[in-house]
Amino acid sequence: MEGKYWNQKIETMPRAELEKRQLQLFRMQVKYSYENSAVYQKKFKKAGIKPNDIKSLKDIQKVPFTVKDDFRDNYPLGMLMVQPDDVVEIHSSSGTTGNPVVGVYTKNDMDVWRELMTRSLYTTGVRNTDVVHISYGYGLFTGGLGFHYGAHGIGATVVPASAGMTQRQVKLMKDLGATVLCCTPSFAVYLGETMRAEHIDPRTDLKLRLGLFGAEPWSEKIRERIEQELGIEAFDVYGLTELCGPGVSIECHTHNGLHVWEDHFLAETIDPNTGEVLSPGEKGELVFTSLTKTGLPVLRYRTRDISVLETERCSCGRTHARMLKVTGRSDDMLKVKGVNVFPSQIEYAIMGFPEVACQYLIVLDRPGALDTFSVKVELTEKTAKDPQADLNDLKRRILERIHNITGLFPDLELVKPGSIPRTDGKAKRVLDLRKGKT
Ligand SMILES: [Zn+2]
Repeated sequence: MEGKYWNQKIETMPRAELEKRQLQLFRMQVKYSYENSAVYQKKFKKAGIKPNDIKSLKDIQKVPFTVKDDFRDNYPLGMLMVQPDDVVEIHSSSGTTGNPVVGVYTKNDMDVWRELMTRSLYTTGVRNTDVVHISYGYGLFTGGLGFHYGAHGIGATVVPASAGMTQRQVKLMKDLGATVLCCTPSFAVYLGETMRAEHIDPRTDLKLRLGLFGAEPWSEKIRERIEQELGIEAFDVYGLTELCGPGVSIECHTHNGLHVWEDHFLAETIDPNTGEVLSPGEKGELVFTSLTKTGLPVLRYRTRDISVLETERCSCGRTHARMLKVTGRSDDMLKVKGVNVFPSQIEYAIMGFPEVACQYLIVLDRPGALDTFSVKVELTEKTAKDPQADLNDLKRRILERIHNITGLFPDLELVKPGSIPRTDGKAKRVLDLRKGKT
């Protein structure tokens, strides 16, 4: 019988042993970064520490943070710690707001990435008999090729569909017998809608059984919807270009947080305001240190993602810490009429109503002295066509729920199915027209 783990020894290693290994790797990584990077040398000097000052895992608190601006200020390759000839692959974020973040891989880094993606896919149940349909964008974005390498590592059949051409993707999934779908959660929703429009029932006409979704925050309610509509089990995946792309953490079948592969990453949560390290179980900003990367490793990288780390052993048998589902990054937080709101809170509030579809748009504006806050939500085809549907009552119930969760009453508009623009990558959920207005 096939095993449950890709690498049982590592995945179920007792925590004491895992931490011992982490300390050893961490000390090496600190020394390596100090010796090979002018950026880190400067940071260390400023903090008044030397690599030898790191004696225990607790000493990590002495090490200065790395932030996104470090990448941008040293664009493109100012943080590289190897000779340019040792670089074998480069990826990049989209960089819509300034210099993009460049991800650099040596031969070693590619081997690690493939191993971690293979391990991640295997954890969700992907096997060599599967047909893995990848609708993440291929190219500079780490999503497409990351999953591609992982599926190859398992020996599954890969269909590198990439993004776009939604109807053709549905046809390919049907004709080639896709069993696993990898894409953004919003694209999974869009694929489901397209199938319905083409009179294809994914539960009976397709062989899909698993979905691996990430690259944007998504709520439990969207998970329920995707699972129900596509007839699959949906897994959350997490990663960052700054670390390696996807492959940092993955959900197991218990769906109780994402296992961080701690033999390659050291994870912490901190108070985002004070930088103070928090204990497991406390909610804070995720901070990662790459333990095995050679091209461009990061020490204490602040992700801006808010989560909770749990370190007790999971019922799946894995000992690696779990990070609870990220429902928003601190960068995404909206300040509306003096109140802090995450788009995911709005999503959670509205997706509890079966009368509405998965598409919504939050619009913020400041036409005069005050902010306006409106939410557009699409009705399902069924509700839109139902002459008996009491839309005023539905509106009242949705508003009450949004108010309970956020303390705010937006202008709520129930719109026709298909009226909010779709994307084949990350969804655009917020339109903030206040920018530049005072
Ligand atoms: Zn588990």
